[in-house]
Amino acid sequence: MSEAYDNWGRTPPPPGGRRAVDGPQADAFPTLRTANGLLPRGNGRSYGDTCLNEAGILVDMRGRNRILSLDLQDGVIEAEAGVLLNEITERIAPHGWFLPVTPGTQFVTLGGAVANDVHGKNHHRRGTFGRWVESFTLVRSDLGALTCSRTENADFFAATIGGMGLTGIITRVRLRLLEVPSLTIRETTHRLSCLDDYFARAAEADEGHEYAVAWIDQLARGPRFGRGHLICGDHAGKGDHTGRTRRPLFTVPFTPPVSPLRGLALKAFNEANFRKLRSEEATRLVPFDGFFYPLDRVGAWNRLYGPHGLQQHQSVVPEQMGRQAVRALMECASAHGQGSFLTVLKRFGDLPSPGVLSFPRRGYTLTLDFPNRGASTLALMTELDRITIEAGGAVNPYKDARMAPDVFAASFPRWRALEAMRDPAIRSDFWSRTALRLDVGVRRFGAAA
Ligand SMILES: Cc1cc2nc3c(=O)[nH]c(=O)nc-3n(C[C@H](O)[C@H](O)[C@H](O)COP(=O)(O)OP(=O)(O)OC[C@H]3O[C@@H](n4cnc5c(N)ncnc54)[C@H](O)[C@@H]3O)c2cc1C
Repeated sequence: MSEAYDNWGRTPPPPGGRRAVDGPQADAFPTLRTANGLLPRGNGRSYGDTCLNEAGILVDMRGRNRILSLDLQDGVIEAEAGVLLNEITERIAPHGWFLPVTPGTQFVTLGGAVANDVHGKNHHRRGTFGRWVESFTLVRSDLGALTCSRTENADFFAATIGGMGLTGIITRVRLRLLEVPSLTIRETTHRLSCLDDYFARAAEADEGHEYAVAWIDQLARGPRFGRGHLICGDHAGKGDHTGRTRRPLFTVPFTPPVSPLRGLALKAFNEANFRKLRSEEATRLVPFDGFFYPLDRVGAWNRLYGPHGLQQHQSVVPEQMGRQAVRALMECASAHGQGSFLTVLKRFGDLPSPGVLSFPRRGYTLTLDFPNRGASTLALMTELDRITIEAGGAVNPYKDARMAPDVFAASFPRWRALEAMRDPAIRSDFWSRTALRLDVGVRRFGAAA
Protein backbone atom coordinates (compact mmCIF):
# COMPACT_ATOMS: atom_id res chain seq x y z
CA MET A 1 0.00 0.00 0.00
CA SER A 2 1.68 3.24 -1.07
CA GLU A 3 -0.37 5.54 1.17
CA ALA A 4 0.98 6.20 4.68
CA TYR A 5 -2.44 6.40 6.40
CA ASP A 6 -1.03 8.98 8.79
CA ASN A 7 -3.00 10.61 11.56
CA TRP A 8 -2.88 14.41 11.69
CA GLY A 9 -0.34 14.43 14.54
CA ARG A 10 1.93 12.32 12.30
CA THR A 11 2.68 9.41 14.60
CA PRO A 12 5.52 7.48 12.92
CA PRO A 13 4.17 4.37 11.16
CA PRO A 14 5.25 0.90 12.31
CA PRO A 15 8.04 -0.87 10.39
CA GLY A 16 6.44 -2.25 7.24
CA GLY A 17 3.80 0.51 7.17
CA ARG A 18 0.08 0.46 7.83
CA ARG A 19 -2.27 -2.03 6.20
CA ALA A 20 -5.63 -1.07 4.76
CA VAL A 21 -8.47 -2.44 2.66
CA ASP A 22 -10.94 -0.41 0.62
CA GLY A 23 -14.25 0.61 2.14
CA PRO A 24 -16.35 -0.90 -0.65
CA GLN A 25 -15.45 -4.17 1.01
CA ALA A 26 -17.18 -2.99 4.18
CA ASP A 27 -20.30 -4.98 3.34
CA ALA A 28 -18.12 -8.08 3.47
CA PHE A 29 -16.93 -6.92 6.88
CA PRO A 30 -18.34 -9.92 8.74
CA THR A 31 -15.86 -12.09 6.81
CA LEU A 32 -12.90 -9.72 7.09
CA ARG A 33 -11.94 -10.63 10.65
CA THR A 34 -8.24 -10.54 11.52
CA ALA A 35 -6.36 -11.46 14.66
CA ASN A 36 -5.53 -7.85 15.55
CA GLY A 37 -8.82 -6.34 14.57
CA LEU A 38 -10.06 -3.88 11.99
CA LEU A 39 -10.78 -0.18 12.27
CA PRO A 40 -12.88 2.02 9.99
CA ARG A 41 -10.91 4.98 8.74
CA GLY A 42 -12.09 8.32 7.34
CA ASN A 43 -9.70 10.99 6.13
CA GLY A 44 -7.16 10.72 8.97
CA ARG A 45 -7.84 14.22 10.33
CA SER A 46 -7.84 12.95 13.91
CA TYR A 47 -4.66 14.06 15.64
CA GLY A 48 -4.03 10.95 17.69
CA ASP A 49 -4.44 7.19 17.58
CA THR A 50 -8.23 6.84 17.60
CA CYS A 51 -7.86 6.44 13.82
CA LEU A 52 -4.94 3.98 13.98
CA ASN A 53 -4.69 0.23 14.42
CA GLU A 54 -1.01 -0.46 13.80
CA ALA A 55 -1.15 -4.24 14.26
CA GLY A 56 -4.48 -4.66 12.47
CA ILE A 57 -6.17 -3.43 9.30
CA LEU A 58 -7.79 -0.10 8.47
CA VAL A 59 -10.97 -0.06 6.39
CA ASP A 60 -10.52 3.02 4.19
CA MET A 61 -14.01 4.44 3.68
CA ARG A 62 -13.13 7.28 1.31
CA GLY A 63 -14.12 5.28 -1.76
CA ARG A 64 -17.72 5.14 -0.56
CA ASN A 65 -18.53 8.74 -1.23
CA ARG A 66 -21.77 9.04 -3.17
CA ILE A 67 -24.46 11.52 -2.26
CA LEU A 68 -27.59 9.37 -2.38
CA SER A 69 -30.44 11.85 -1.96
CA LEU A 70 -31.14 15.46 -1.09
CA ASP A 71 -34.50 16.61 0.20
CA LEU A 72 -34.50 20.33 -0.54
CA GLN A 73 -37.89 20.88 1.05
CA ASP A 74 -36.99 19.64 4.54
CA GLY A 75 -33.21 19.97 4.27
CA VAL A 76 -32.12 16.37 4.71
CA ILE A 77 -29.20 14.75 2.90
CA GLU A 78 -28.39 11.05 2.69
CA ALA A 79 -24.86 10.12 1.70
CA GLU A 80 -22.29 7.39 1.97
CA ALA A 81 -19.95 7.68 4.93
CA GLY A 82 -16.81 8.47 2.92
CA VAL A 83 -18.07 11.69 1.39
CA LEU A 84 -16.11 14.75 2.57
CA LEU A 85 -17.84 17.69 4.23
CA ASN A 86 -16.64 20.08 1.50
CA GLU A 87 -18.36 17.88 -1.10
CA ILE A 88 -21.60 18.11 0.87
CA THR A 89 -21.29 21.89 1.15
CA GLU A 90 -20.80 22.30 -2.58
CA ARG A 91 -23.91 20.26 -3.24
CA ILE A 92 -26.24 21.91 -0.72
CA ALA A 93 -25.12 25.56 -0.64
CA PRO A 94 -26.74 26.62 -3.95
CA HIS A 95 -30.10 25.61 -2.43
CA GLY A 96 -29.73 27.70 0.73
CA TRP A 97 -28.54 24.94 3.07
CA PHE A 98 -25.33 24.50 5.07
CA LEU A 99 -23.80 22.03 7.49
CA PRO A 100 -25.45 22.57 10.88
CA VAL A 101 -22.15 21.87 12.65
CA THR A 102 -18.70 21.97 11.09
CA PRO A 103 -15.23 21.40 12.57
CA GLY A 104 -12.17 23.54 11.78
CA THR A 105 -11.37 21.55 8.63
CA GLN A 106 -13.80 20.53 5.92
CA PHE A 107 -11.64 17.64 4.78
CA VAL A 108 -13.25 15.14 7.13
CA THR A 109 -15.62 12.39 6.10
CA LEU A 110 -19.25 12.19 7.09
CA GLY A 111 -18.56 8.91 8.90
CA GLY A 112 -15.62 10.44 10.78
CA ALA A 113 -17.75 13.43 11.82
CA VAL A 114 -20.39 11.09 13.28
CA ALA A 115 -17.88 8.73 14.89
CA ASN A 116 -16.18 11.60 16.75
CA ASP A 117 -19.39 13.61 17.19
CA VAL A 118 -17.48 16.71 16.14
CA HIS A 119 -18.27 20.23 17.32
CA GLY A 120 -17.96 23.63 15.74
CA LYS A 121 -17.96 27.33 16.56
CA ASN A 122 -21.73 27.23 17.14
CA HIS A 123 -21.90 24.55 19.82
CA HIS A 124 -23.79 27.00 22.05
CA ARG A 125 -26.62 27.14 19.49
CA ARG A 126 -26.58 23.82 17.62
CA GLY A 127 -24.83 21.31 19.86
CA THR A 128 -22.75 18.57 18.26
CA PHE A 129 -22.87 16.97 14.81
CA GLY A 130 -24.66 13.95 16.28
CA ARG A 131 -27.72 16.00 17.21
CA TRP A 132 -28.38 16.47 13.50
CA VAL A 133 -28.06 12.85 12.50
CA GLU A 134 -31.43 11.27 11.77
CA SER A 135 -30.21 7.74 11.11
CA PHE A 136 -27.32 5.70 9.72
CA THR A 137 -26.51 2.20 8.57
CA LEU A 138 -24.02 0.36 10.76
CA VAL A 139 -22.38 -2.84 9.53
CA ARG A 140 -21.23 -5.15 12.32
CA SER A 141 -19.20 -8.31 12.21
CA ASP A 142 -21.68 -10.12 14.47
CA LEU A 143 -25.07 -8.67 13.45
CA GLY A 144 -24.65 -7.55 9.83
CA ALA A 145 -26.24 -4.28 8.65
CA LEU A 146 -28.40 -2.36 11.16
CA THR A 147 -30.44 0.78 10.61
CA CYS A 148 -29.89 2.96 13.66
CA SER A 149 -31.91 5.99 14.76
CA ARG A 150 -33.36 7.39 17.96
CA THR A 151 -36.17 4.83 17.71
CA GLU A 152 -34.55 1.87 15.93
CA ASN A 153 -31.51 0.13 17.43
CA ALA A 154 -31.35 3.17 19.69
CA ASP A 155 -28.54 1.71 21.84
CA PHE A 156 -26.29 1.42 18.80
CA PHE A 157 -27.31 4.90 17.64
CA ALA A 158 -26.19 6.39 20.96
CA ALA A 159 -22.99 4.34 21.23
CA THR A 160 -21.91 5.03 17.64
CA ILE A 161 -22.23 8.83 17.84
CA GLY A 162 -18.89 9.70 19.43
CA GLY A 163 -18.07 5.98 19.54
CA MET A 164 -14.78 6.49 17.66
CA GLY A 165 -15.49 3.79 15.08
CA LEU A 166 -15.64 1.02 17.65
CA THR A 167 -19.27 -0.12 17.28
CA GLY A 168 -19.11 -1.07 13.58
CA ILE A 169 -18.66 0.48 10.16
CA ILE A 170 -21.01 3.35 9.29
CA THR A 171 -21.79 3.01 5.59
CA ARG A 172 -24.44 5.72 5.06
CA VAL A 173 -25.88 8.62 7.03
CA ARG A 174 -29.05 10.76 6.93
CA LEU A 175 -28.27 14.26 8.16
CA ARG A 176 -30.52 17.27 8.78
CA LEU A 177 -29.17 20.54 7.36
CA LEU A 178 -29.25 24.18 8.46
CA GLU A 179 -31.08 26.75 6.34
CA VAL A 180 -28.95 29.88 5.86
CA PRO A 181 -29.41 33.14 3.90
CA SER A 182 -25.90 32.79 2.41
CA LEU A 183 -22.56 31.19 3.16
CA THR A 184 -20.78 34.54 3.45
CA ILE A 185 -20.08 35.41 7.07
CA ARG A 186 -20.43 38.80 8.73
CA GLU A 187 -17.46 38.56 11.06
CA THR A 188 -16.89 40.85 14.04
CA THR A 189 -13.53 40.62 15.81
CA HIS A 190 -12.97 42.16 19.24
CA ARG A 191 -9.56 42.73 20.71
CA LEU A 192 -9.07 40.94 24.03
CA SER A 193 -6.60 42.72 26.29
CA CYS A 194 -6.14 39.76 28.66
CA LEU A 195 -7.69 36.43 29.65
CA ASP A 196 -10.25 38.01 32.02
CA ASP A 197 -11.45 40.11 29.11
CA TYR A 198 -12.41 36.88 27.32
CA PHE A 199 -14.35 35.57 30.30
CA ALA A 200 -16.15 38.90 30.64
CA ARG A 201 -17.37 38.74 27.02
CA ALA A 202 -17.79 35.06 26.14
CA ALA A 203 -21.41 34.58 27.29
CA GLU A 204 -22.60 37.73 25.55
CA ALA A 205 -20.81 36.72 22.34
CA ASP A 206 -22.62 33.38 22.40
CA GLU A 207 -25.97 35.01 23.02
CA GLY A 208 -25.57 37.46 20.18
CA HIS A 209 -24.00 35.29 17.46
CA GLU A 210 -24.34 31.99 15.63
CA TYR A 211 -20.57 31.47 15.86
CA ALA A 212 -18.05 32.56 18.51
CA VAL A 213 -14.48 31.48 19.25
CA ALA A 214 -11.31 33.11 20.60
CA TRP A 215 -7.73 32.99 19.38
CA ILE A 216 -5.31 33.50 22.28
CA ASP A 217 -1.69 34.62 22.16
CA GLN A 218 -0.34 32.00 24.52
CA LEU A 219 3.08 33.66 24.63
CA ALA A 220 2.00 37.05 26.01
CA ARG A 221 3.13 37.64 29.59
CA GLY A 222 2.32 39.95 32.52
CA PRO A 223 -0.82 42.09 32.24
CA ARG A 224 -1.23 40.98 28.61
CA PHE A 225 -1.43 37.30 29.58
CA GLY A 226 -4.24 35.69 27.57
CA ARG A 227 -4.66 38.57 25.13
CA GLY A 228 -6.15 37.71 21.77
CA HIS A 229 -9.16 38.10 19.49
CA LEU A 230 -12.77 37.14 20.10
CA ILE A 231 -14.17 36.26 16.70
CA CYS A 232 -17.94 36.21 16.21
CA GLY A 233 -19.88 35.45 13.05
CA ASP A 234 -23.32 35.20 11.49
CA HIS A 235 -24.50 34.27 8.02
CA ALA A 236 -24.89 37.42 5.92
CA GLY A 237 -28.24 38.19 4.30
CA LYS A 238 -26.64 38.26 0.86
CA GLY A 239 -23.51 36.56 -0.38
CA ASP A 240 -21.97 33.36 -1.66
CA HIS A 241 -24.24 30.50 -2.67
CA THR A 242 -21.72 28.32 -4.46
CA GLY A 243 -20.12 26.71 -1.41
CA ARG A 244 -17.00 26.31 -3.51
CA THR A 245 -13.73 26.22 -1.61
CA ARG A 246 -10.79 28.32 -2.83
CA ARG A 247 -7.60 26.49 -3.68
CA PRO A 248 -5.00 26.42 -0.88
CA LEU A 249 -2.66 29.40 -0.93
CA PHE A 250 0.23 26.94 -0.93
CA THR A 251 1.16 23.47 0.25
CA VAL A 252 4.06 22.82 2.59
CA PRO A 253 6.20 20.72 0.25
CA PHE A 254 8.28 18.77 2.77
CA THR A 255 8.87 18.28 6.48
CA PRO A 256 11.64 20.59 7.73
CA PRO A 257 14.26 18.90 9.95
CA VAL A 258 13.46 21.39 12.76
CA SER A 259 10.04 22.90 13.34
CA PRO A 260 9.99 26.65 12.62
CA LEU A 261 7.00 27.00 14.97
CA ARG A 262 9.07 27.79 18.05
CA GLY A 263 11.03 30.47 19.86
CA LEU A 264 11.25 33.88 18.28
CA ALA A 265 9.40 32.88 15.11
CA LEU A 266 6.41 31.80 17.17
CA LYS A 267 6.51 35.02 19.18
CA ALA A 268 6.69 37.09 16.01
CA PHE A 269 3.75 35.20 14.48
CA ASN A 270 1.60 35.81 17.56
CA GLU A 271 2.58 39.46 17.73
CA ALA A 272 1.74 39.99 14.06
CA ASN A 273 -1.55 38.12 14.37
CA PHE A 274 -2.55 40.19 17.39
CA ARG A 275 -1.66 43.46 15.68
CA LYS A 276 -3.41 42.71 12.43
CA LEU A 277 -6.58 43.95 14.15
CA ARG A 278 -5.93 47.68 14.10
CA SER A 279 -8.84 48.80 16.27
CA GLU A 280 -10.70 47.52 19.32
CA GLU A 281 -13.33 45.99 17.07
CA ALA A 282 -13.79 45.42 13.33
CA THR A 283 -16.62 44.02 11.22
CA ARG A 284 -16.29 42.72 7.68
CA LEU A 285 -17.78 40.21 5.26
CA VAL A 286 -15.61 37.13 4.76
CA PRO A 287 -15.81 34.00 2.58
CA PHE A 288 -17.07 30.97 4.46
CA ASP A 289 -13.92 28.89 3.93
CA GLY A 290 -11.68 31.60 5.42
CA PHE A 291 -13.98 31.90 8.45
CA PHE A 292 -14.52 28.23 9.22
CA TYR A 293 -11.40 26.61 7.80
CA PRO A 294 -8.43 29.04 7.93
CA LEU A 295 -5.96 26.17 8.31
CA ASP A 296 -7.25 24.45 5.16
CA ARG A 297 -5.85 27.43 3.22
CA VAL A 298 -2.37 25.91 3.67
CA GLY A 299 -1.98 22.34 2.42
CA ALA A 300 -0.19 19.80 4.67
CA TRP A 301 0.50 22.49 7.30
CA ASN A 302 1.10 19.79 9.90
CA ARG A 303 4.49 19.18 8.26
CA LEU A 304 5.61 22.50 9.78
CA TYR A 305 5.75 20.78 13.16
CA GLY A 306 8.84 18.93 12.05
CA PRO A 307 9.78 15.26 11.85
CA HIS A 308 8.29 14.33 15.23
CA GLY A 309 4.86 15.74 14.46
CA LEU A 310 2.60 17.55 16.87
CA GLN A 311 0.70 16.89 20.05
CA GLN A 312 -2.61 18.62 20.58
CA HIS A 313 -4.24 18.94 23.99
CA GLN A 314 -7.93 19.80 24.04
CA SER A 315 -9.63 20.01 27.39
CA VAL A 316 -13.07 21.05 28.56
CA VAL A 317 -13.60 22.31 32.10
CA PRO A 318 -16.89 23.11 33.85
CA GLU A 319 -18.06 26.70 33.52
CA GLN A 320 -17.71 27.58 37.22
CA MET A 321 -14.07 26.41 37.16
CA GLY A 322 -13.34 28.04 33.81
CA ARG A 323 -11.36 31.12 34.79
CA GLN A 324 -9.00 29.36 37.20
CA ALA A 325 -8.57 26.16 35.21
CA VAL A 326 -7.93 27.80 31.83
CA ARG A 327 -5.44 30.17 33.44
CA ALA A 328 -3.72 27.24 35.16
CA LEU A 329 -3.51 25.29 31.88
CA MET A 330 -1.96 28.21 30.04
CA GLU A 331 0.44 29.03 32.88
CA CYS A 332 1.48 25.39 32.96
CA ALA A 333 2.42 25.47 29.26
CA SER A 334 4.41 28.68 29.82
CA ALA A 335 6.20 27.25 32.86
CA HIS A 336 7.26 24.25 30.78
CA GLY A 337 8.77 26.63 28.24
CA GLN A 338 6.58 25.25 25.44
CA GLY A 339 4.67 27.69 23.30
CA SER A 340 1.46 26.60 21.64
CA PHE A 341 1.36 27.64 17.98
CA LEU A 342 -2.40 27.84 17.87
CA THR A 343 -4.39 28.40 21.06
CA VAL A 344 -8.16 28.37 20.77
CA LEU A 345 -10.70 29.01 23.53
CA LYS A 346 -14.41 28.45 23.24
CA ARG A 347 -17.48 28.14 25.43
CA PHE A 348 -19.58 25.00 24.96
CA GLY A 349 -23.31 25.30 25.59
CA ASP A 350 -25.53 22.78 27.31
CA LEU A 351 -27.42 21.19 24.42
CA PRO A 352 -26.97 17.47 25.09
CA SER A 353 -25.59 15.10 22.49
CA PRO A 354 -27.33 11.80 21.80
CA GLY A 355 -23.86 10.17 21.91
CA VAL A 356 -22.80 8.19 24.98
CA LEU A 357 -19.12 9.21 24.73
CA SER A 358 -19.43 12.66 23.25
CA PHE A 359 -16.64 15.02 24.31
CA PRO A 360 -18.40 18.44 24.46
CA ARG A 361 -20.16 19.38 27.67
CA ARG A 362 -21.07 22.72 29.21
CA GLY A 363 -17.96 24.71 30.02
CA TYR A 364 -14.84 26.14 28.43
CA THR A 365 -12.73 24.24 25.96
CA LEU A 366 -9.06 25.11 25.44
CA THR A 367 -6.99 23.72 22.56
CA LEU A 368 -3.19 23.89 22.61
CA ASP A 369 -0.85 22.67 19.83
CA PHE A 370 2.80 21.78 20.49
CA PRO A 371 5.60 20.49 18.29
CA ASN A 372 6.38 17.06 19.71
CA ARG A 373 9.69 17.31 21.57
CA GLY A 374 9.42 13.88 23.13
CA ALA A 375 9.68 13.46 26.91
CA SER A 376 9.39 17.16 27.73
CA THR A 377 6.18 17.52 25.71
CA LEU A 378 4.74 14.36 27.25
CA ALA A 379 5.53 15.66 30.76
CA LEU A 380 3.71 18.89 29.95
CA MET A 381 0.68 17.02 28.59
CA THR A 382 0.49 14.89 31.74
CA GLU A 383 0.40 18.08 33.83
CA LEU A 384 -2.33 19.51 31.58
CA ASP A 385 -4.31 16.30 32.10
CA ARG A 386 -3.97 16.61 35.86
CA ILE A 387 -5.21 20.20 35.92
CA THR A 388 -8.14 19.28 33.67
CA ILE A 389 -9.24 16.28 35.71
CA GLU A 390 -8.83 18.09 39.05
CA ALA A 391 -11.13 20.79 37.70
CA GLY A 392 -13.76 18.13 36.92
CA GLY A 393 -13.15 18.32 33.18
CA ALA A 394 -12.27 15.97 30.32
CA VAL A 395 -9.50 15.48 27.76
CA ASN A 396 -10.53 14.99 24.13
CA PRO A 397 -9.66 11.44 22.96
CA TYR A 398 -9.67 12.10 19.21
CA LYS A 399 -6.99 14.75 19.64
CA ASP A 400 -4.87 12.48 21.79
CA ALA A 401 -2.07 9.95 21.30
CA ARG A 402 -0.86 9.44 24.86
CA MET A 403 -3.32 10.01 27.72
CA ALA A 404 -3.20 7.51 30.58
CA PRO A 405 -6.10 5.06 31.08
CA ASP A 406 -7.20 6.73 34.34
CA VAL A 407 -7.37 10.14 32.64
CA PHE A 408 -9.63 8.63 30.00
CA ALA A 409 -11.82 6.95 32.63
CA ALA A 410 -12.12 10.18 34.62
CA SER A 411 -12.99 12.09 31.44
CA PHE A 412 -15.60 9.54 30.34
CA PRO A 413 -17.07 7.74 33.36
CA ARG A 414 -19.53 5.99 30.99
CA TRP A 415 -16.79 4.37 28.89
CA ARG A 416 -18.03 0.89 29.82
CA ALA A 417 -21.25 1.53 27.90
CA LEU A 418 -19.18 1.88 24.72
CA GLU A 419 -17.04 -1.16 25.50
CA ALA A 420 -20.23 -3.20 25.95
CA MET A 421 -21.39 -2.18 22.44
CA ARG A 422 -18.00 -2.46 20.75
CA ASP A 423 -17.85 -4.73 17.72
CA PRO A 424 -15.66 -7.67 18.79
CA ALA A 425 -13.74 -7.46 15.48
CA ILE A 426 -12.87 -3.78 15.91
CA ARG A 427 -10.02 -2.23 17.84
CA SER A 428 -8.08 1.01 17.76
CA ASP A 429 -4.71 1.82 19.25
CA PHE A 430 -6.37 4.40 21.45
CA TRP A 431 -8.86 1.88 22.84
CA SER A 432 -6.16 -0.76 23.38
CA ARG A 433 -3.96 1.56 25.43
CA THR A 434 -6.80 3.13 27.50
CA ALA A 435 -10.09 1.28 27.94
CA LEU A 436 -8.76 -2.22 27.35
CA ARG A 437 -6.25 -1.69 30.14
CA LEU A 438 -9.09 -0.71 32.44
CA ASP A 439 -11.45 -3.34 31.19
CA VAL A 440 -13.00 -5.03 34.17
CA GLY A 441 -16.50 -6.31 34.55
CA VAL A 442 -17.96 -5.22 31.23
CA ARG A 443 -20.76 -7.46 30.01
CA ARG A 444 -20.65 -7.37 26.22
CA PHE A 445 -23.75 -6.69 24.19
CA GLY A 446 -25.59 -9.96 23.53
CA ALA A 447 -23.54 -11.97 26.06
CA ALA A 448 -25.44 -14.27 28.39
CA ALA A 449 -26.07 -12.83 31.86
C1 LIG B 1 -7.25 21.49 11.14
C2 LIG B 1 -8.18 20.65 11.98
C3 LIG B 1 -9.20 21.28 12.67
C4 LIG B 1 -10.10 20.53 13.42
N1 LIG B 1 -11.10 21.17 14.10
C5 LIG B 1 -12.00 20.46 14.81
C6 LIG B 1 -13.08 21.10 15.46
O1 LIG B 1 -13.24 22.32 15.41
N2 LIG B 1 -13.97 20.33 16.12
C7 LIG B 1 -13.86 18.97 16.20
O2 LIG B 1 -14.71 18.33 16.81
N3 LIG B 1 -12.83 18.33 15.57
C8 LIG B 1 -11.90 19.05 14.89
N4 LIG B 1 -10.87 18.40 14.24
C9 LIG B 1 -10.80 16.94 14.32
C10 LIG B 1 -11.58 16.26 13.17
O3 LIG B 1 -12.71 17.01 12.83
C11 LIG B 1 -12.08 14.91 13.65
O4 LIG B 1 -11.03 14.14 14.15
C12 LIG B 1 -12.83 14.14 12.56
O5 LIG B 1 -13.62 13.17 13.16
C13 LIG B 1 -11.88 13.50 11.54
O6 LIG B 1 -12.65 12.84 10.56
P1 LIG B 1 -11.95 11.88 9.47
O7 LIG B 1 -12.93 11.64 8.39
O8 LIG B 1 -10.64 12.44 9.08
O9 LIG B 1 -11.81 10.54 10.29
P2 LIG B 1 -10.54 9.77 10.86
O10 LIG B 1 -9.68 10.73 11.57
O11 LIG B 1 -9.94 8.93 9.81
O12 LIG B 1 -11.26 8.81 11.90
C14 LIG B 1 -11.89 9.39 13.02
C15 LIG B 1 -12.66 8.32 13.79
O13 LIG B 1 -13.83 8.00 13.07
C16 LIG B 1 -13.88 6.61 12.83
N5 LIG B 1 -14.49 6.45 11.53
C17 LIG B 1 -14.14 7.04 10.37
N6 LIG B 1 -14.97 6.66 9.38
C18 LIG B 1 -15.86 5.79 9.93
C19 LIG B 1 -16.95 5.03 9.43
N7 LIG B 1 -17.32 5.10 8.16
N8 LIG B 1 -17.61 4.22 10.28
C20 LIG B 1 -17.28 4.17 11.59
N9 LIG B 1 -16.27 4.88 12.11
C21 LIG B 1 -15.57 5.67 11.30
C22 LIG B 1 -12.44 6.12 12.91
O14 LIG B 1 -12.39 4.76 13.31
C23 LIG B 1 -11.87 7.04 13.98
O15 LIG B 1 -12.15 6.53 15.26
C24 LIG B 1 -9.96 19.11 13.48
C25 LIG B 1 -8.93 18.48 12.78
C26 LIG B 1 -8.04 19.24 12.05
C27 LIG B 1 -6.94 18.54 11.29
